[in-house]
Amino acid sequence: MRIAILSAKPDLYSTQRLLEAVHSRGHEGIVVNHLNCQVMIEGGRPSVLYEGRELDPLDAIVPRIGASVTDYGCAVVRQFEMMNVFTTAKSQAITRSRNKLRSLQVLSKAGVGLPKTVFANHPKNGDITQLIQLVGGPPVVIKLLEGTQGIGVVLAETNKAAKSTIEAFYGLKKHVLVQEFIAEAQGADLRAFVVGGRVVGAMKRQGVEGEFRSNLHRGGNAVAIQLTPAEEQTAIDAARALGLKVAGVDMLSSERGPLVLEVNSSPGLGGIEKATGADIASEIVIYIEEKIKADESDMVGV
Ligand code: ADP
Repeated sequence: MRIAILSAKPDLYSTQRLLEAVHSRGHEGIVVNHLNCQVMIEGGRPSVLYEGRELDPLDAIVPRIGASVTDYGCAVVRQFEMMNVFTTAKSQAITRSRNKLRSLQVLSKAGVGLPKTVFANHPKNGDITQLIQLVGGPPVVIKLLEGTQGIGVVLAETNKAAKSTIEAFYGLKKHVLVQEFIAEAQGADLRAFVVGGRVVGAMKRQGVEGEFRSNLHRGGNAVAIQLTPAEEQTAIDAARALGLKVAGVDMLSSERGPLVLEVNSSPGLGGIEKATGADIASEIVIYIEEKIKADESDMVGV
């Protein structure tokens, strides 16, 4: 097979590991920088130009689209979909997962456990206190809708702090989510790596002393863990609800069971492979092989 890793950063650990896994399983692998792709539109013949010339046919793509280039990256992924190239993440699923609110809405309908969350416009008569009360009162977590890597996630311990933080974001014309604070998570979260409806690795990330955010980018550290059956099921359900075949599902442990924070469509391989020792990159390639084989056998007798 000929498999392309769509990545703007060929030197990244995740890109390199995927390429290595593609090669080690006997396939042809290339890194294609989606930012250098052009989408060619003409009746009946969708194609992708790469660095000025038409890309040789591909069997599959593994999109690794950064948050800052979601729109362009997804346009390229969509074009490959139009060309019937198999993708480990559909463009629509990537777009959906990139919006925290949209994801939470979809997950809520699917019955996945979530922290109580409210989204509202700046109240006309200024009753921000009511928003804070809707999620049970302080402490609350206030999240910028488009934040990543823990930036734009604020813990407000008092009503005053919550009110002024929300006002500050509204003043900057930013939309925010106000969420109940899950104190019993104790600054740790769980990341389950789901491939093709199966958890292939899981880790617990712990924030540095005094930090409620466990993001590795904020200095947190990670250890491998065995998920409980409820955690495993929640991660699988969350990935399925968002239509993601490869997903990093972030959860908090709470008194009422696992609660999903976010589902990542381009989850990094570095943290999870180092923590678990598992070969997650090969799991992704094996999943592609199985899907393509299944599609081929579907064609028999057509
Ligand atoms: P980002 O997408 O920027 O990583 P998250 O919503 O995942 O934002 O939040 C970052 C971190 O903050 C989480 O990994 C978790 O450790 C902590 N956190 C987020 N929301 C809550 C919450 N409601 N209660 C407790 N801790 C939280």
